[in-house]
Amino acid sequence: MSTLSIMTLHGQEAPISPEVLLELTSKVGGKIMQKGDPGYDDARRIWNGMVDRSPALIVRCAGSADVVQAIAFARQHQLLLAVRSGGHNIAGNAVCEGGLMIDLSGMMGVRVDPVAKKAWVEPGATLADLDRETQAFGLAVPTGINSTTGIAGLTLGGGFGWITRKFGLTIDSLVSADVITAEGKLVRASAEENEDLFWAIRGGGGNFGIVTGFEFNLHPVGPEVLSGLVVHPFEDAAKLLKQYRAAVDNAPEELTCWAVMRRAPPLPFLPTDWHGREVLILAMCYLGDPAEGARVTQELRSLGKPIADVVGPHRFVDWQGAFDPLLSPGARNYWKSHDLDGLPDGAIEAIVDAVHTLPSDEAEVFIAHVGGAMSHVAPDATAFPQRRSHFVMNVHARWRDRKDDSHCTAWARHLFGATEPFATGSAYVNFMPDDETERVEKIYGLNYRRLAEIKGQYDPDNVFRLNQNIRPVPHHTGHLA
Ligand SMILES: Cc1cc2nc3c(=O)[nH]c(=O)nc-3n(C[C@H](O)[C@H](O)[C@H](O)COP(=O)(O)OP(=O)(O)OC[C@H]3O[C@@H](n4cnc5c(N)ncnc54)[C@H](O)[C@@H]3O)c2cc1C
Repeated sequence: MSTLSIMTLHGQEAPISPEVLLELTSKVGGKIMQKGDPGYDDARRIWNGMVDRSPALIVRCAGSADVVQAIAFARQHQLLLAVRSGGHNIAGNAVCEGGLMIDLSGMMGVRVDPVAKKAWVEPGATLADLDRETQAFGLAVPTGINSTTGIAGLTLGGGFGWITRKFGLTIDSLVSADVITAEGKLVRASAEENEDLFWAIRGGGGNFGIVTGFEFNLHPVGPEVLSGLVVHPFEDAAKLLKQYRAAVDNAPEELTCWAVMRRAPPLPFLPTDWHGREVLILAMCYLGDPAEGARVTQELRSLGKPIADVVGPHRFVDWQGAFDPLLSPGARNYWKSHDLDGLPDGAIEAIVDAVHTLPSDEAEVFIAHVGGAMSHVAPDATAFPQRRSHFVMNVHARWRDRKDDSHCTAWARHLFGATEPFATGSAYVNFMPDDETERVEKIYGLNYRRLAEIKGQYDPDNVFRLNQNIRPVPHHTGHLA
């Protein structure tokens, strides 16, 4: 073993001797990896293929004790530190160049108490892991629409998906969390303990410590839900989007319908001559009696002249993974996102124009339909600031070849700019790419100041800085000078 050179928080290389490394290895129950070790490349590879960074050291933790050791090691040597759970974040902060990566992906346990309707979840669990365990008892936590996403990053940013309109954001079901602070202390955050921290981690991301356990309330869902896709020719999109807007305006909280615009993938239920042509997809899910769902979805399903309608009863776990084939890891991805409280004609025109100039076969525009139960919570009740949005638009440029980078990112930025006049100004922190650091303060709005103070209390040295970063301000002790 030779001396390891590792990046510090101050941008310098620090030498770590074999003895020091051996000492760390002896304290850790999980696995320690360097370049060339088996498993190293898998651990550093994340969902967004644009991110290709090589940490000097990866600690794959087996439990909270390993996290404590890894943080202590990082503090002692002032190391640049990245935290990885599901590895899905578009900005790629889960992995750092030359520093220390704390990898939680091996901690993926989920325990369910079906009587108390509670689940205890480790940070490396994916949405699929969680749904599999909870759906065995007809229960669920509201999460996102791609089952390979990590529960940790999703929850810390807010979390929304098919059942949010009925049961709120993921954070609205969070009861408590075990957090290892920058000082290496394990604390519990809940409505009764460390309330400030509990407020901050519900939307404030990975700024405040490393979460090693989440406790969620569960809700009755499924096991089948009325769900599926209605696929339309894109030439009708402008008219259809206006009709969609009217239909979802009055939708009950049980109904969620997202609009997705892209070139048609080769889905088995689409006639082959439609593959590769632009389409508008209405993706819907109704929670409750499927017969009632058939009645409630009728207005949306009778719009226009669809190419295909595959709405029907599906197992909720299957529906949770319905978009997985389109969102598989490894492609190059760049996102731009706005919160919208409506879909004004101007926004529809800009979106339709952009879809006519899609930069690749896999690029798409998602209009996520939110609101409902998530808007019953006050904007300052948790760190998640934007409770009133009716839609979240995600401009998703996705392509394969590095030579298309500038063309594809320019397309996303153009649509983002064209729709900006119609947006609320806030945005979902989990959809922000790595070049939006200056936007962080704005998107948290009135909650930013409190976040910065709590950051000042729990992480004054900004050890956890590879994230959508909240800059610490000195913590007030409550004593008057
Ligand atoms: C294809 C795709 C679809 C998506 N769909 C949805 C959706 O429907 N709804 C939705 O709400 N979001 C969605 N997202 C966004 C998703 O919520 C974020 O990407 C989220 O950050 C992923 O969490 P992760 O654990 O997989 O990510 P990671 O990349 O592992 O982590 C992201 C960041 O979170 C922090 N972090 C991670 N784990 C911890 C921890 N244990 N303790 C403290 N900090 C931690 C770190 O700062 C890290 O950089 C989607 C993302 C993708 C790529």
